Amino acid sequence: MAKKTKLQCSFCGRYEDEVPMMLTGLKGAICSDCVQQAAAVLDFNTSGNTAVKHSPASNGSTKNVLTNIPRPQEIKAFLDNYVIGQDDAKRTLAVAVYNHYKRLQQKEAGAGNDNDVELEKSNIVMLGPTGTGKTLLVRTIARLLNVPFTIVDATVFTEAGYVGEDVESILSRLLQVCNYDEAQAQCGIVFIDEIDKIARKQDNPSLTREVGGEGVQQSLLKLLEGSIVNVPPKGGRKHPDQEYVHLDTREILFICGGAFEGLDRRIARRLGSHTVGYNSVRTAAQLDSDDLMRYVEPQDLRSFGLIPELVGRLPVITSLRPLDKSALHKILLEPKNSLVKQYTKLLAMDGVELVFEPEALDYIVDQAIAYKLGARGLRSITERVMNEAMYDAPDPKKGHRRLVITADYCREQVAKYAPPV
Ligand code: ADP
Repeated sequence: MAKKTKLQCSFCGRYEDEVPMMLTGLKGAICSDCVQQAAAVLDFNTSGNTAVKHSPASNGSTKNVLTNIPRPQEIKAFLDNYVIGQDDAKRTLAVAVYNHYKRLQQKEAGAGNDNDVELEKSNIVMLGPTGTGKTLLVRTIARLLNVPFTIVDATVFTEAGYVGEDVESILSRLLQVCNYDEAQAQCGIVFIDEIDKIARKQDNPSLTREVGGEGVQQSLLKLLEGSIVNVPPKGGRKHPDQEYVHLDTREILFICGGAFEGLDRRIARRLGSHTVGYNSVRTAAQLDSDDLMRYVEPQDLRSFGLIPELVGRLPVITSLRPLDKSALHKILLEPKNSLVKQYTKLLAMDGVELVFEPEALDYIVDQAIAYKLGARGLRSITERVMNEAMYDAPDPKKGHRRLVITADYCREQVAKYAPPV
């Protein structure tokens, strides 16, 4: 008698007894998990949410067609799928990004119409402790809008004459991510991280930087305010014999981020002096002392050591809150690609069900708080725990299909890396 062969998913390779349901076609099969995953990918890529579509132009390059820019509430709803909390920052970013691309749309539609009110570009600065979601927010918006996106660290730049990179290399990276298509690059988003580290030193004694600082801020100005910049296509230092790409930065959205450590004390001092007297807007008791950054004003950035011209080029200011236990807990579980979901999926691919006991999650969160790295800590701790667990994972062929992670197991794994006392 012919042996009945088990159906196997043509996508993930699992057999019918390892998945909730198997759908068969003429020549293959697909499991219900892969169907769900494919639906999510389609949903993301074809929902018409992409604001900028790139179509071929007559000169062989592409031109940008700005259609269907998601409204601020839609942008926020999309961000909610990936980023926990940070509602103020999400709203501010959503409005600023929406206005930015509307401005580009207006330019496209109304070129040559002199009577039009010209909408000015509004670059953004985001303040908040490390690992609270600054980069994640910007990266997620760029994905939603389907625009080129690059992240650079402000500390790699130095003034001309010193060893280091010229600020123009930011734009080289943007060009690289869109295959040197200038039209696409010109509507991209650049995230400049650690902007606080190039603050003027005399105003900020905690910083150790020797060169750069103000000089780098001056060179960034040119990019941020919008001008035609000579970009060395391969990045690095400019030199006279090089060929340059001329890139117009007026349409590029610059978002700067930084922890701005110590800024809360400056804000407290300023607010302290303002909260005295009958005319004060808020009394000291009404202030959220755990999150003073939310009261930031441009003058605080100046007093921190950003030059006034740069502060002027970053009119939208928003801050991210430190993540508390409940937020970290949610980050482990809720985002579309949360750590727990990722590990669950990895093990499900081997036919193993992964279960984290609630106390195990509490332990991971407590450790992350102790690490003071925001949500970044969650990843390193979970990685340590799961690395060993996946090495010893149960073998479904032997009938073991469940892996339970307990708090004791987490403690044991983390202790392996603790220095001896
Ligand atoms: P930073 O604020 O230093 O830019 P990131 O955005 O790079 O922090 O966060 C590091 C990682 O931590 C992210 O990739 C993400 O996995 C996680 N993370 C941080 N904040 C959040 C958040 N609010 N919601 C969900 N995940 C977060």
